[in-house]
Amino acid sequence: LPALATCSHQLSGYVPHRFHHRTPGRRERLVLSRMFQPQNLREDQVLSLEGRSGDLTCKSQRLMLQVGLIYPASSGCYHLLPYTVRAMEKLVRLIDQEMQAIGGQKVNMPSLSPAELWRATNRWDLMGKELLRLRDRHGKEYCLGPTHEEAITALVASQKTLSYKQLPFLLYQVTRKFRDEPRPRFGLLRGREFYMKDMYTFDCSPEAARQTYHLVCGAYDSLFHRLGLRCVKVQADVGSIGGTMSHEFQLPVDVGEDRLAICPSCNFAANMETLGSAQTNCPACQGPLTETKGIEVGHTFYLGTKYSSIFNSQFTNVHGRPSLAEMGCYGLGVTRILAAAIEVLSTEDCIRWPGLLAPYQVCLIPPKKGSKEEAATELTGHLYDHITEAVPQLRGEVLLDDRTHLTIGNRLKDANKFGYPFVIIVGRRALDNPAHFEVWCQNTGEVVFLTREGVLELL
Ligand code: ATP
Ligand code: MG
Ligand code: MG
Ligand code: MG
Repeated sequence: LPALATCSHQLSGYVPHRFHHRTPGRRERLVLSRMFQPQNLREDQVLSLEGRSGDLTCKSQRLMLQVGLIYPASSGCYHLLPYTVRAMEKLVRLIDQEMQAIGGQKVNMPSLSPAELWRATNRWDLMGKELLRLRDRHGKEYCLGPTHEEAITALVASQKTLSYKQLPFLLYQVTRKFRDEPRPRFGLLRGREFYMKDMYTFDCSPEAARQTYHLVCGAYDSLFHRLGLRCVKVQADVGSIGGTMSHEFQLPVDVGEDRLAICPSCNFAANMETLGSAQTNCPACQGPLTETKGIEVGHTFYLGTKYSSIFNSQFTNVHGRPSLAEMGCYGLGVTRILAAAIEVLSTEDCIRWPGLLAPYQVCLIPPKKGSKEEAATELTGHLYDHITEAVPQLRGEVLLDDRTHLTIGNRLKDANKFGYPFVIIVGRRALDNPAHFEVWCQNTGEVVFLTREGVLELL
């Protein structure tokens, strides 16, 4: 950082950007040259970073490595770089809104999970090699949490005086999960360490629990709708988590590892796993089924009393008697959603984000070093300040591509690859009177020339 702070800035008129430092009364301008973003890797460099051949990678993984969104750490583990962390924080904020709108309360449970909890449900054995196990210095056994049904049920069961009047509880967290996947691949789509949102619900009757189940599914629908991702909700297997009713939220795309059966004539949709090997017709209307591949981005389970009976998670019912809580659990693959969105929205060469998740909303490109540079540079700085002052939601969202040793064309190519929703070029026409800025709207593909006021209106 000292080296950064003292290095002279290439663009006169720009306030040098220093992290953690603000000049009183003046907002910092974020400049691209200071971003930590190992990038512009060629395809062969990407493959050698991963130690892999082409057929083991997919588009989102390649693009995310190429533009410096992620960097491999070890098999199935990635460093999440600054742009990705910004996108993920935005996603988590949306998830928080949706979960809290239905009464969710956020908690945060330890990743280190004692073996005895898992032995109680027999999952210490059932989970097999997927569970990452370790011992502490006293020889006590733990796993790194792949999911938290045991931990949350034991926690709620520790409260001995719960009444039906307090239920339902909808408790959720967004934390790292650990699974020793047999085939970690496709970057963030299948990692060994990844972020999940997991919610666990406690109700006082099966009917109430079913209502909660539909409420959470509705919140998932709303989240994916806001992200502009067309998910299909399909009937699913309960797997090692258990329970009696389960659905997956699947994003149809070819790299998906799940096979889905969808009925074009009625609303039936299921993961093929649930249909057995030979079923070819729709179980609901007997019509022919079509098959498509999908990425599982969310999963919901109605658990009943499977876990509450083991840990004795009780409440006092309306008759004053102890009764077992009816539970549900609900996962969303947070890091998987980021990669899956990039997978379905991007072209082969250019990343496209759900508008609400783009790490920065606007990229400003001033002209290359040379004639009239000073005037254009000053104009760019003013435009930057004007946007961030006039549109409060865009504070911290505007990035200035100050690499003026590069041509506008080269930087535009980069910006296009990166997928900022709006790219504003301060070119020759910007110096006319009145100035006109060239605005690229990435999500609609439009290019328009606008005055400063026009730009503000558009944003
Ligand atoms: P998969 O079938 O893809 O292995 P799963 O059924 O084992 O997933 P769940 O136990 O249902 O996963 O976990 C909830 C959510 O967590 C999944 O719907 C998915 O979005 C996400 N998830 C699961 N495993 C991974 C992983 N290895 N990497 C990234 N996200 C994952
Ligand atoms: Mg799995
Ligand atoms: Mg699955
Ligand atoms: Mg699942």
